Amino acid sequence: MLRKADIALYEAKKNGRGRYQVFAGDMDDLLLRKRQVESELRHALNGGTGIKLAYQPIFAADGSTILGAEALIRWGHEVHGGLPPAQFIAIAEERGMIGQLGKWVLQEACRFAVGTELPWVAVNVSPLQLRDAGFTEQLAAVLAETGLAPGRLQLEITESVLLDNNDTTRTALAALRRSGIAIVLDDFGTGYSSLNYLRRHAIDKLKIDRSFVNLLGRDESSAAIVRALVDLADALDVGVTAEGVETEEQKALLVAMGCREFQGHLLSLPLEPAQLLRLAGLLPGKDSTPAAVSA
Ligand code: C2E
Ligand code: CA
Ligand code: CA
Repeated sequence: MLRKADIALYEAKKNGRGRYQVFAGDMDDLLLRKRQVESELRHALNGGTGIKLAYQPIFAADGSTILGAEALIRWGHEVHGGLPPAQFIAIAEERGMIGQLGKWVLQEACRFAVGTELPWVAVNVSPLQLRDAGFTEQLAAVLAETGLAPGRLQLEITESVLLDNNDTTRTALAALRRSGIAIVLDDFGTGYSSLNYLRRHAIDKLKIDRSFVNLLGRDESSAAIVRALVDLADALDVGVTAEGVETEEQKALLVAMGCREFQGHLLSLPLEPAQLLRLAGLLPGKDSTPAAVSA
């Protein structure tokens, strides 16, 4: 009973203090599973096994020019199978492991990009990483170690980071941008972004959330929202990417609205590093003529 009370207490604290929580049967399993995942994730990180990065290319409007790629973490686990990143990232955040995991992702992505002609690589950064006073130094060290030019790195942050009334975060973002790293606002439209903050040019690019893109062509109001977001990016003079592009119709609508960067299953799934390079290499260069239609 004491153990169960403790679990309920933990849940209550997690959901905000000054509240109570009745123990429910599945809390036990959930906690057990979290602890298991945590210890296995630690193991994977220390040994560097089982976790890897996939790269999803981001395309220009022509649908074939690769502008850059987003690094997405993958963890193939013997027991749990392929655990979705959103799930184990949340556990890593909760258990204080996101710093270590995030550093590994940065090192791995920069090391990969520097050996390729990929124009840039985008890395997802947790709000907790940015709150860490040592983050900018850590990042500078990773760039120095790997030799990647700061202009080839983009960091994807979420709107909650901008709401964060935290000087560490703001100072870090400003310093990163000064060093030439681009800051991308991910999942744009789902949070509560301050237009003031955007106006003060604290970011370089907006990424329209896939929930809006997904409704394009099916729902009139979402078309209006997407158009407004693209116009907003234009007015602020920042870039704009549409994520989760799955159909030709969605892509055509986005192109007509003035969107310039496209990411989604229509164009490419997240790929193994070698697959990405093969895809990029197979693209006709600017001067090459299309293969002749054989007689
Ligand atoms: P995100 O940053 O919004 O990443 C895009 C997600 O959309 C990826 O899911 C990608 O596989 C998926 N996606 C791409 N194109 C399409 C499409 O056309 N349709 C649909 N339905 N989905 C598409 P994934 O890889 O499962 O990642 C989920 C989330 O986990 C990411 O969302 C990001 O927030 C987080 N994440 C992934 N890798 C990292 C990482 O290295 N660090 C941190 N902090 N978070 C990460
Ligand atoms: Ca992202
Ligand atoms: Ca996103």
